[in-house]
Amino acid sequence: MHNNVKINRVRLPGESGLYSLSIKKGIIDNIEAFDPTIADKSTFIDVLDAEGGVVLPPFVDSHIHYDSAYTAGESRWNTSGTLLEGIKCNNDRQGIATESDYLSRAKKAIQGQVLNGVQYARVHVDVSQESLLALKVMLKLKEEVKHLINIQVVAFPQMGITSHPKQYELLELAVQLGVDGIGGVPHLEMTREGGVRSIHQIFDLAEQYNKFIDIHCDETDDDQSRFVEVVAAQAIIRNMGSVTSVSHITALHSYNNAYASKVISLIKQAKMSVVSNPLSNVILQGRFDNYPVRRGITRIKSLMSEGINVSLGQDNLADAFYPLGTGSMFPALNMALHLCHLLGSKDIDSSIDMITYNGAKTLSINPEEYGVEVGKPANLIIMQDPNVYECVRNQSPVRFNIRHGQLLAENLPLKSNIFSKI
Ligand SMILES: [Zn+2]
Repeated sequence: MHNNVKINRVRLPGESGLYSLSIKKGIIDNIEAFDPTIADKSTFIDVLDAEGGVVLPPFVDSHIHYDSAYTAGESRWNTSGTLLEGIKCNNDRQGIATESDYLSRAKKAIQGQVLNGVQYARVHVDVSQESLLALKVMLKLKEEVKHLINIQVVAFPQMGITSHPKQYELLELAVQLGVDGIGGVPHLEMTREGGVRSIHQIFDLAEQYNKFIDIHCDETDDDQSRFVEVVAAQAIIRNMGSVTSVSHITALHSYNNAYASKVISLIKQAKMSVVSNPLSNVILQGRFDNYPVRRGITRIKSLMSEGINVSLGQDNLADAFYPLGTGSMFPALNMALHLCHLLGSKDIDSSIDMITYNGAKTLSINPEEYGVEVGKPANLIIMQDPNVYECVRNQSPVRFNIRHGQLLAENLPLKSNIFSKI
């Protein structure tokens, strides 16, 4: 398939009827009502039949860890299911990881994403190892897979910054190696003061090296874990909200409503993005609860009703933190919709934004380059179902994944038969 392509019988979200979408030199050149008589005479090198599937911009995974992907059960399973045991299992596994091991598992994760229409991913890489091996592998891989997926690499100090003597130096070294963003775990630092100090250090480094910030923040059920307010205050004071995200913020689930309201208004004032990872958090949180067990997800509905940008991440793929996952963003979306009471018809239709446009905003993807519009790069996915509602309901496979007019991947429709009368 060349990058001059005509895609016939495609549907547009929210529109009735069938359309033809023309791509020239990798750019969307024209979108018009489908006319079968003209289509038959097409002079385009390649003609693709979308068979009535809806076209969407590519999916965005706003938060994923390639370095731990596909290590579930190695060298042991996380039997308690807690975040802390997950970190221990992960550290044990990292101790035996090699360059080829990191590489093959990350490639497997990317293959899953490509098959599932993900063309943008923010990848958090643990930088607590002195060798920084995982980071070096991911930075190299990022360049090698540019034709498939845009990767943003975040230096993620899994063991904290202020709680370990060498961690700040390692973090700065990681930044100098060429990461895109800087992360942190203030809620895992030994003290509240250490957590606050780590946030100041992250902002200092981000300012000095011109990086974005994406902090694993308040990923706990502890209603006294209150670091989002510190991040928001720094983002406001330093005018860095547009390049700052907070991931998880599950403690927001457990705050009293008055404090939650204050935090949400600070996030709004800071213009920060929020990344929720519902799959991992629904199983990692609530582990200290007797019944009723908390859901372990941030207040997506309240955040979005304030106009705050919320996007979703897979977070973990078959590792010590979360044992399932394929690369598809639909399970995360499905989980978020259920846990956050977002199943009204308008909610379902707009929910796709959490894995498309909102993710693009979190990742600061140039709006001129993202979206299915004439003049923009032909990065798009064509689904097997005709509209967003059916895609979300069916967790529909991506029929075609197209990037710069090139066909990256296809999934053939499954055929099913029932052999008796209904
Ligand atoms: Zn994470």
